[in-house]
Amino acid sequence: MFDKILIANRGEIALRVIRACREMGIQSVAVHSTADADAMHVRMADESVCIGPPQGAQSYLSIPAIVSACEITGAQAIHPGYGFLSENASFAQILEDHQITFIGPSAEHIRVMGDKITAKETAKRLGIPVVPGSDGGVPDVAAAKAIGEEFSYPVIVKATAGGGGRGMKLASTAADMENAFSTARSEAKAAFGNDEVYIEKYLQKPRHIEIQVFGDGKGNAVHLAERDCSLQRRHQKVFEEAPGPAISPEERARIGKICAEAVAEINYIGAGTVEFLYEDGEFYFIEMNTRLQVEHPVTEAIFGVDLVREQIRVAAGLPMSFGQDDLEINGHAIEIRLNAEKLPNFSPSPGTITQYHAPGGLGVRMDSAIYDGYSIPPYYDSLIGKLIVHGRDRPEALARLARSLSELIVDGIDTTVPLFDALLQEEAVLTGNYNIHWLEKWLDANLEGA
Ligand code: ADP
Repeated sequence: MFDKILIANRGEIALRVIRACREMGIQSVAVHSTADADAMHVRMADESVCIGPPQGAQSYLSIPAIVSACEITGAQAIHPGYGFLSENASFAQILEDHQITFIGPSAEHIRVMGDKITAKETAKRLGIPVVPGSDGGVPDVAAAKAIGEEFSYPVIVKATAGGGGRGMKLASTAADMENAFSTARSEAKAAFGNDEVYIEKYLQKPRHIEIQVFGDGKGNAVHLAERDCSLQRRHQKVFEEAPGPAISPEERARIGKICAEAVAEINYIGAGTVEFLYEDGEFYFIEMNTRLQVEHPVTEAIFGVDLVREQIRVAAGLPMSFGQDDLEINGHAIEIRLNAEKLPNFSPSPGTITQYHAPGGLGVRMDSAIYDGYSIPPYYDSLIGKLIVHGRDRPEALARLARSLSELIVDGIDTTVPLFDALLQEEAVLTGNYNIHWLEKWLDANLEGA
């Protein structure tokens, strides 16, 4: 086992990893930008190294600075968290070249899954059902129009290098294609430096269902059921739950087995998520994330496992501490993302937190790096915390969420708490009867532009 792990991240996820290290008796090293000198992850880690100025590109994304921090402190492994360098294949490769263990999959798996076209081809080859659409990249508008006709509109133009919902444009009819194609392309170019796009049939009322998988890198893998992350704003998740309210035990077993077998076949190591759109009883692969997800705690809650501990174990060459038969769902869990944003427009709301009180009690987990007097820097993602509740069943989890939200105090800045207070009054949320478009429509009717 490692003696010391460096965490190449900040915020709540850095804390999450430090906590796992501490329970495992492993020393932790935090890295931070100058803007984060007072951050909680720096205070909580055993050691810390300043790696650069506030801008992510010069600090949390600076591979030379992070590798040097590792060498200075003698850390043997790096946990990348999510975002930043977590899905950067060259980072994983460089660490390998420096004999530093990357706590995550191989550079090759990150590369294959990071390009959505090769990811889809790989998924198809491994027997995973995919969304119907173009065979690979689409070179020009004429080809795009032909595909629109072939699969019949509406279709969606998506960036091969996509992520975070960017570079994705809907073409409802042939008349929209010219514009959708060129906008998706230029957005992709600006966001990812790669303007390759592909086209998929646009599903009208799907749910976003993702399967948590875990492999040991030696041909063994399990699935840890699904999370339903259909409540999204601008293709970004805001509320996640497990198990999915619309998924039957038979469907879970079927798709879970397909995913576990697929990742076992490629000797995948560590945590991964196979994302699907789910409509009318069918699953359609959209992408695979080769890292720990923001919403992993809902899976941890219903299975009673520590996914970060497990990631560290397999990275150190140890076997997984559970097999498929050990994994049984217990109850229901929900996570809400607490963002420093001002409603109704979700504009960033950095500033100083004058008072913070976290909810507690049975089945309540607050993963956050904020504290009384903490100043949220304006340079990073607006996620400031995640509230996760676990109950014996979905109604109990919902009641616990409402109760926890009433205890939570975050003063001095605007947050997305009022959104969740309002959503918990909605029949669709209470019954779990929603799809990926529900929240956008609700926001149009109830908040944005109000
Ligand atoms: P990203 O990597 O940018 O998050 P994804 O491919 O994971 O992109 O898609 C993000 C979200 O966009 C999905 O959860 C879904 O809401 C929507 N989406 C993607 N593909 C389709 C599709 N073919 N039909 C309908 N909605 C889609």
